[in-house]
Amino acid sequence: MNVVLSNAGADHAVMIAGAGPTGLMLAGELALAGVDVAIVEQRVNRDLVGPRARGLHARTIEVFDQRGIADRFLAQGQVAQVAGFAWVRLDISDFPTRHRYGLALLQHQIERILGEWVGEFDVPIYRGRAVSDIAQDETGVDAILVDGHRLRAEYLIGCDGGRSVVRKASRIDFPGWDPTTSSLIAEVEMTEEPEWGIRRDAHGVHSISRSENGGPVQVLVCEPRCDRVGEPTLHDLSAALTAVYGSDYGVHSPASISRFTDAARQAAAYRKGRVLLAGDAAHIHPPIGGQGLQIGVQDAVNLGWKLAQVVKGISPPTLLDTYHSERHPIAALVLRNTMAQLVLLRVDDRVTALRDCVADLLSLDEARQCFAGMMSGLDIRYDLGEGHPLLGRRMPDLDIITADGARRVFTLLHRARPLLLNFGEANRIDITPWADRVEMIDVECDGPWRLPVIGAVAAPDAVLIRPDGYVAWAGEGKRDGLADALTTWFGSGAA
Ligand SMILES: Cc1cc2nc3c(=O)[nH]c(=O)nc-3n(C[C@H](O)[C@H](O)[C@H](O)COP(=O)(O)OP(=O)(O)OC[C@H]3O[C@@H](n4cnc5c(N)ncnc54)[C@H](O)[C@@H]3O)c2cc1C
Repeated sequence: MNVVLSNAGADHAVMIAGAGPTGLMLAGELALAGVDVAIVEQRVNRDLVGPRARGLHARTIEVFDQRGIADRFLAQGQVAQVAGFAWVRLDISDFPTRHRYGLALLQHQIERILGEWVGEFDVPIYRGRAVSDIAQDETGVDAILVDGHRLRAEYLIGCDGGRSVVRKASRIDFPGWDPTTSSLIAEVEMTEEPEWGIRRDAHGVHSISRSENGGPVQVLVCEPRCDRVGEPTLHDLSAALTAVYGSDYGVHSPASISRFTDAARQAAAYRKGRVLLAGDAAHIHPPIGGQGLQIGVQDAVNLGWKLAQVVKGISPPTLLDTYHSERHPIAALVLRNTMAQLVLLRVDDRVTALRDCVADLLSLDEARQCFAGMMSGLDIRYDLGEGHPLLGRRMPDLDIITADGARRVFTLLHRARPLLLNFGEANRIDITPWADRVEMIDVECDGPWRLPVIGAVAAPDAVLIRPDGYVAWAGEGKRDGLADALTTWFGSGAA
C-alpha cells in the first residue's frame, strides 16, 4: 500500500512494527475487533531470505480454526505427524482435537495466507519502511522511521523479529544464553555430486538434499566457529562445507544463505508502558521442534483482544500485564525444551545413550502424551487460579446445538468475541451489565469433555470463553466467581 507519510505522522490507535507471522496475526486480531491498526514493515514485498518455518503444530491450526481460516492453510499444506522431541516422533493421532496432526507448509506460504486474511480488513501496511527508534510519552508512542518520518500511535507493538529495534530502543533487557553453535542454511547449486542425506559428526548435524520438484540443493551445515556476525556469504558456506565434508562440491549460485545459532534469549518484560513485544522480538531459541512461529502467532492471539479492549476503554491498561504473565512462561518453557533437545542431539556416545533412554521413556504412553502436548501447544494452561480443570485451558471444539442449529464451539469464536456458553436450563444466567460485549448462548452438548494430556473432565454447566479460546471461568452448578471473571477479563459491568 502506498501511503504518503507526513512529518506530523499518520495516527493509528495501534502501530505494529513487522509484517512477519506475528505482526500479521496481531493485525488481523485487532482489525477483527474494530481497532484502527497499521503495520510498518521494512521489506518491500513478502519475499523471505532463506528457508524458515516448515509447518504448523496442532494448536496453531486450532487457533486459525477459531478464526475460520484453518481451511486456507490445510488446503495448501500436507497433514502429517510432525511433533517430536529430539527427533523422537510423537504421534498425536489419539488426541481429542479435530486437528490430530501438524501441517507441512513453508513460512512464505503461511505469511501469504495470513497477509491475504489481513488484506480483507484493509489494514494499511507501510512497506519498505524500517523503524529506527521510538519515543514514548504518556499519551502515545512515535515510531521513528529510517527516513526520519514519524508514525504516532497509542500503542506500538514490536513484532520486528529477533534483532528487534523496538525492543532495543525501549531498553528492554534480553537475557539468556550466548550461542555455542552456528549453522548455515542455504539454497545453492553444486557442480560436483555431494554426499546426500544427513550426516552427524563431531561438528554437529548437517544435511544436503534436493527438493522433490528438482529445485536448488538445500544445505544445512555447521560452521567451525559460532562468533560470526553479519550476513553470511558464499565464502562462509564454502569454508563450512570444506571443514565438514572436505569439499565444497563446487558450490555456486546461492538463491539464499542464512545463519542461525543456538542462542536462546527472552525479553525480561513483554510490556514497557505503551510498547509491547511479541514473537521473535520477545524470544529467540534454536529452531528444533519448530516452535518459534507457533508461539509468535499465539502471542498475537493472546495480546490482540486485550489490547483492543484497552484501546476501546473497556478495560484498564493493567489488563496488558496479563499478556506478560501468561505468555512469558510459555516461551520460557520453549527455550528450556530447545536447549534440552540440542544437548540430546550432540554426537557423543554417552549423549547418544542418554537420548536412547529418553526415547525409551517417550515410548511410554503417559510420557508421550505429556511431551506431545507440550510440543503441539495443546497442553497450554494459563494460571488463572484453582478450579475446574478447564480453567486457563483451551476450550475444546465441541459439537453443540444452539437455537440456530448445530454448531462447533470454534465457529462461535470466529468474530473473536467473548462467549458465555450456558449448557444448563435456558435463560438462567443474567449477564445484563456485560451484554454489550459478552455474547451469551444457550446450548446443548452431549460431550465428551476430554482434554489433551488431561483426559476426561467433568462437564461444566457453563463456561466463559475468552476471544483467544481459553476458558476464563467454568461453572459447576453455582455462579460463584462469574461476575469477578467477567470484570477481570471484560471490564466493569457498570462501564
Ligand atoms: C532455519 C529456521 C527454521 C525455522 N523453522 C521453524 C519451524 O519449523 N517452525 C516454527 O514454528 N518456527 C521455525 N522457525 C522460527 C520462525 O521462523 C520464527 O519464529 C518466526 O518467523 C517469527 O515470526 P515473527 O513475525 O515474530 O518474526 P519475523 O518472522 O522475524 O518477522 C519480523 C518482521 O519484522 C520486519 N522488521 C524487522 N526489523 C524491522 C524494523 N526495524 N522496522 C520494520 N520492520 C522490521 C522483518 O522484515 C520481518 O518481516 C525457524 C527459524 C529458522 C531461522
